[in-house]
Amino acid sequence: MSKVIGIDLGTTNSCVAVVEGGVATIIPNDKGERTTPSVVAFTDSGERLVGSAARRQAAVNASRTVASIKRHMGTDWRRELGGKTYNPQEISAMILRKLREDAESYLGEKVTDAVITVPAYFNDIQRQATKDAGRIAGLNVLRIINEPTSAALAYGLNNGAAQKIMVYDLGGGTFDVSIIEIGEGVIEVLATSGDNHLGGDDFDERIVRHICGEFMKTTRADLSRDPAAMVRVKEAAEQAKKELSTSEMAAISLPFITQVNGQPQHLDMTLTRAKFNELTRDLVDRTEGPVRAALNDAGIAPSELGRVLLVGGSTRIPAVQEKVRAITGMQPSKNINPDECVAQGAAIQGDTLGTSGSTALTNSTGILLLDVTPLSLAIETVGGVATRVVERNSTLPVHYSQVFTTAGMFQGTVEIHVLQGERPMAKDNKTIGKFKLKGIRKAMAGVPKIEVTFDIDVNGILTVSARDQDTGANQSITITANEKMSESEIQQAIRDAEQYAVQDGFRRDLMQTVNEAQSLCNQVTTAMAKAGKQLEKEEKKRVKDDEAALRRLLSKAKPDKMTEQDLAAIKAAMEQLRGTSIHVIHIANNMGAE
Ligand code: AMP
Repeated sequence: MSKVIGIDLGTTNSCVAVVEGGVATIIPNDKGERTTPSVVAFTDSGERLVGSAARRQAAVNASRTVASIKRHMGTDWRRELGGKTYNPQEISAMILRKLREDAESYLGEKVTDAVITVPAYFNDIQRQATKDAGRIAGLNVLRIINEPTSAALAYGLNNGAAQKIMVYDLGGGTFDVSIIEIGEGVIEVLATSGDNHLGGDDFDERIVRHICGEFMKTTRADLSRDPAAMVRVKEAAEQAKKELSTSEMAAISLPFITQVNGQPQHLDMTLTRAKFNELTRDLVDRTEGPVRAALNDAGIAPSELGRVLLVGGSTRIPAVQEKVRAITGMQPSKNINPDECVAQGAAIQGDTLGTSGSTALTNSTGILLLDVTPLSLAIETVGGVATRVVERNSTLPVHYSQVFTTAGMFQGTVEIHVLQGERPMAKDNKTIGKFKLKGIRKAMAGVPKIEVTFDIDVNGILTVSARDQDTGANQSITITANEKMSESEIQQAIRDAEQYAVQDGFRRDLMQTVNEAQSLCNQVTTAMAKAGKQLEKEEKKRVKDDEAALRRLLSKAKPDKMTEQDLAAIKAAMEQLRGTSIHVIHIANNMGAE
């Protein structure tokens, strides 16, 4: 069996790891970065960018850039990009495909199997959507595991003493806190809480505002009106924030940031850690509420925690670490890179599944990975009431049945309305599926016995079925959650993604060829200027004609409209020019060396 990769598909950044020689190793991307921004973009020329290239151009190409797609997983969000409408699964698949390709070049072999992590609070639809994204990216998703569970695996806590731990995860855009119980061969998520709109981006934003405010005071120029300047300010703000995690002071220098009355303006300032802390104190404070809520939900006091793990790049901020210490009264563990440990845990889980060659629950250390349902599951009954079938925090896998009956006389059909949430009335919870059970034996109200079964597998994926006990007949039913993709939609998306991969290859080839052709023309022009005089008249004409022919093709080349024939014509013209110009380039080079 080929290697199984572990993927942390994050809101801001994603990370991929693999177990090599028994060690969970981070796989760098093609730019050598250990995490890849979860950003996808389409450029004017129809090129598709994923990662830092997409992130860098986000501010100047906002309408064709998608960031934080994870927030939309399992919803009916749609976006038209380059003439095609995409759903969240397809956008996520583009990120996953890039991670898979990076893993393939690193490992030098094809990769198909993966373990992907999701937040512990992700519901059934969000988990299914993540799994579908994996399939669209050409991955066989062996398991979806919870991010905090994955972090605990990376820390090897499964080998130690039974204990309750806290995972405090502050990433780029989200904050999650989970309380986990590690017991005799079992890891259980006891409770989760968080803030879906709190993360490193907010810290950057505070610095950006500060920089713009200070700059305005000294120059009266409003940088916020200049998108290109703001791209640089944002980058510098994030850089300064990172520096302040290890230094007391960061210098921010942005020469030629704008112009005032035709005069170039330079931005030079310093930011101290004290000022940064002052600008962001309320953000750090906002993490306290969810921490207390999670402890409360798990029914434990901070003093009962065995460990506190820091996950997410923003936990490198000293004030954040100080806050965690203040709330929990303990020194948090941070010996594994906080933005890498989730992917590492997934790789460890993947390795276990890969070597065992099955989807058995035990890993190499014999641990059972049990997660829990984050929210209760219910069905709607008479009067719009949400009747619970599965309580929240039930340990997976779950198999629950409950018998219901009809409310109307001689009712032949019932609608099963599946809900997720803690509220007593159906309308206040989230609908995650609806289906009709037909062919019930017609009888007085309250007589038929309809058995409704909820099955949640180890990935947290839910199947609901219903059976009329009176007739004994099983009905085949489908959950028709409209956010869930049908099999045919998934197949279509897989085909589209593959087609895009081919197109992407073509675009890459195209851009590269155009660039090479341009530099060849420039090289020939320079060589001719230098050494053209030394050529015979005829040879000179041939070189000039061939260069002009290639330049003509290049001037007509519109990257978004070019066909394979156009590309082939440029390649042929390049070959031709390379042949005719080799002599003059050689002479010019030798002259340069003299
Ligand atoms: P993650 O989503 O876990 O990759 O976290 C990304 C966030 O962590 C971004 O907002 C980064 O700016 C932030 N981050 C990364 N490194 C540091 C650092 N050294 N200090 C402060 N924040 C950081």
